[in-house]
Parts: sequence; C-alpha cells; structure tokens
Amino acid sequence: MKYSKVDDRIVAELQEIVGAKYVLTDREKLEPYSHDAVTGDKHVCYPEAAVLPATTAEVAAVVRLANREVIPVVPRGAGTGYACAAVAYEGGIVLSTERMNGILEIDDANMVMVVEPGVRTSEVQEAAAAKGYLYAGEPSSGDSSFIGGNVATNAGGIKAVKYGTTRHQVLGLELVTPEGEVVMLGGKLRKETTGYSLIQLAIGAEGTLGVATKVILKLLPKPAKVMDLLAIFPSAAAAIAIVPKIMHAGITPLCVEFMDNKGIRCCEEFLGEKLPHSEDGYYIIVSVEGESDEALENQCVTIDELCEANGSLEVLVADPAKIWKARKSFGEANRARSLIFSAEDIVVPIAGIPDTVAYLGELGEKYGVTIHCVAHAADGNVHADILKEELPLAAWEDKLPKLQEELYTFVYGLGGKLSGEHGIGRKRLELMEKFADPVELKMMRAVKKALDPRGIMNPGKIFRM
Ligand SMILES: Cc1cc2nc3c(=O)[nH]c(=O)nc-3n(C[C@H](O)[C@H](O)[C@H](O)COP(=O)(O)OP(=O)(O)OC[C@H]3O[C@@H](n4cnc5c(N)ncnc54)[C@H](O)[C@@H]3O)c2cc1C
Repeated sequence: MKYSKVDDRIVAELQEIVGAKYVLTDREKLEPYSHDAVTGDKHVCYPEAAVLPATTAEVAAVVRLANREVIPVVPRGAGTGYACAAVAYEGGIVLSTERMNGILEIDDANMVMVVEPGVRTSEVQEAAAAKGYLYAGEPSSGDSSFIGGNVATNAGGIKAVKYGTTRHQVLGLELVTPEGEVVMLGGKLRKETTGYSLIQLAIGAEGTLGVATKVILKLLPKPAKVMDLLAIFPSAAAAIAIVPKIMHAGITPLCVEFMDNKGIRCCEEFLGEKLPHSEDGYYIIVSVEGESDEALENQCVTIDELCEANGSLEVLVADPAKIWKARKSFGEANRARSLIFSAEDIVVPIAGIPDTVAYLGELGEKYGVTIHCVAHAADGNVHADILKEELPLAAWEDKLPKLQEELYTFVYGLGGKLSGEHGIGRKRLELMEKFADPVELKMMRAVKKALDPRGIMNPGKIFRM
C-alpha cells in the first residue's frame, strides 16, 4: 500500500483539529512514541507526527483526514505493549489517547464504569475499589498501561482464571471506525444477541479496526477477603503437576502462577531482596477469595494438603506486597539482565504446560541461551523470556528465529497458539503468517478489508494485506 506523507498541509489541518500544541513533529518529542516495551534498535521507528486528541469528535476528525489522504493512523495507549503494535512502521500518525483520561461515570444501578481509553488500569481498579466494587482486569503492567490498550490487546493477567481476560470485563465500546465514523458497540448490557458481536471483534484487534474512545466496564462486588499462598516445589514438573489438582478440588482460584527457579533468582537479584527458597525452589502462587475467614481457610487447607501430598518443600501464606512485587518484576528483571530479550507469550491447552516448560529448557540448552519462564499456569499461558545476554547481535538474530520456529512447531503440535495475551503486532507477524490456519487468516483479511478499505488503521500489524 502506498501511503501519503504527513506534509505541512496535513500538519496544519491536524493542528486545526486538536490545537497546535497537540501535534508533535520534533524528533525529540516523538521519541516516546517511537517504540513500545520491546527493546532493541530494530524495533524503534519514529512516526511522522504524534497527535494527542482530547475528545471522540477530535479522534474522528483526525481519522477522517487520514482516511481521505491515505495516511496510516496508529492508536496508542501507554506503550507498554510487548508486540511492537503501537509503533508506526509504515509511517504516518501515532494517535495517542493520553489526554482522554477521564473516568466519566460510575453507574451504581447498572454496576458499570464508563471511562475514556487513556485512563490507567490501576486508576480504574482504585476508582472501583473506592466505591466498594472490583474491576477484575489486572495485567501486571496495570500501574502503567491504559484501559484502551488493555481492550485492544485483550489483556489478561493475574485474575484471569476466575474472571477472564479484558474482553470479559467490557460491556460497551465506543469506536471510531477506520473511515472516521463513531459507533457504540454493546452498551450497559449484560447480554446481547443482536447481530454479529462486533464488540468482541474489536477487542483484541490491536487497533487495526478502529480507535476505542470510550469503554463501558463491568463492575463486580468487591470480595471480602483475599489470600495468597506460596507453594514451593523442588522441580518445575512437581510445581506444575499441582495445577490441575487445585483446579479439580472444587476451588476457583483467582490465579495460579508459576515461576521457574532461574526466573526467581533473576527477580531476587533485580529487587535486591531475598526470596524464599531461591536457591532450589519453583513457585506456585495461588490467590483465593472468600466472604469470610472460614471460607478462605477451608480453601487454603485444601491447597496446603494437596501441595504437601505432591512433595512441596514449603507452603507459606505469602506477604502479598512482596510476592506480587517479585512476580510483577519478571519482565523488568530480565530486561536488567539483558537489554535485548524476546518475550514469548505461548498459550497451550493447560495440560500442555509441563511439556512446554520442559521443551523450553531443552531449546535453551540446544541454542545456548538463557530462558526464564513464568506462567499463568491455570490458563495455559507461558511467558518465556529468551535472553540475548552477551551473545553477539548477529548470532542472536540468526538463532532466535530458528529457536522460535522449533518452539512454535511444538506449541502448534500441542494445539497451542502464538499469543495468550500480548498480541501479534509487528513482532510476531511472520510467525503468524507461518503458523496461523490459512483460512483463519483469509477471514481476518476479509474483515480488515471490509472495515478499513484504505488500509489506514494500524497497518502492517497482525498480518499483511
Ligand atoms: C512489565 C510488563 C508487564 C506486563 N504484564 C502483562 C500482563 O500481565 N498481561 C497482559 O495481557 N499484558 C501484559 N503486558 C503487556 C502490555 O502491558 C499490555 O498489552 C497492555 O494491555 C498494553 O496497554 P498499553 O496502554 O500500554 O497499550 P499500547 O502498548 O500503547 O498499545 C497496545 C496495542 O493497543 C492498541 N491501542 C492502544 N490504545 C488503543 C485505543 N484506544 N484504541 C484502539 N487501539 C488501541 C495499539 O495500537 C496497540 O496495538 C505487560 C507489559 C509489561 C512491560
């Protein structure tokens, strides 16, 4: 696709729409919009302009202009993505939602919250909690990520086992379409069978089907009590073997997280804080909720007994601040160890987790690279960070695709897929085109072509046209 440039005439029109102050074209000011959380020079790409609209009407006007002139528009949240999805590799405009950061309404009667896309995830959680509600979306990046980014990536996180991913929290979505029209998909509705579920199509579409400008989120009653248990095992296999046993015990935990020993040590070193059994342990962190101390205790006793019967070294009631700080530091700790690393986001049927973790160990040895693993173990989602460390760049760039090819051949053999929650973006585009079902890709391309005939909305992401 041949795109037009953002020349002086276009800049003037953009300034007319959002105000001169909110159209950035200086290279220095464009730097924050030139990358997401994926590190490495090859993933950096400066847009021609960054535009910071404040209202849906401004977003729509920017998109109409871009559609008329055939200029790429890349919607952007906080830029914490792990898929190079918010970066303008085809040039054009990065449309930042950072000024659209209002909590518009907390509707008690319908138990929903209406927010603009640039509200931080943690602010949504805090605003819900202040009114006695739970907003159940909780990606580990929640202190930084925006709700619009969460919607566009269908972010998962550490409450997904019980409450699902972001798509399960979103009831309504105002979208500016690639042609600059405004539509409300869904609404304050708990159910709907009124034609195609376009809202579910837009969620997880990584900004390729429009810009989310308003989100209606489901609120839940805030659970009275939460407890985190840390079960420590002598091997990865023993740790992961406990997951189905917990799930079969009639308990619905919030999450069951796995951390491998190398990952634990890396986090310990990064935080400068001793973590229990870091010398020999593999962690399973289980969070449970209950309405009373008794209800919590019953669940914890069951989990403790199961873990002990399965050879745990120790089961502790975890200090939530400490254990979640350690778990949430995983990405940053790996980055501190090796600025360049590849964060894989494998998803497999839950029974495939032990084999996947074991296979990652084999691949690490075969290719001579360090691989640290954590997993949202009860939703089959393995985060494997492959570290470049001291490997020369050329050797890294040679090895990584070969390792990934072997890894995803294995993963697809198990019935798994490329991404559980981070998305495809630009980063996994070649792997997507290689491993996705061709019919599935054909359907996705047909949808894209129908809704974005000029191909301006976040082009070159997920798949190529
Ligand atoms: C330390 C760390 C921990 C993380 N933990 C998790 C985790 O637990 N679970 C998880 O799922 N992810 C996690 N991530 C990945 C990332 O935080 C999520 O993908 C998050 O949802 C991205 O939000 P963002 O606002 O930063 O979006 P961005 O990175 O800015 O954008 C991501 C995608 O969303 C699109 N987009 C953004 N806003 C809009 C909008 N308003 N309308 C349309 N499209 C839009 C962009 O075009 C892009 O395709 C983690 C990342 C880091 C760095």
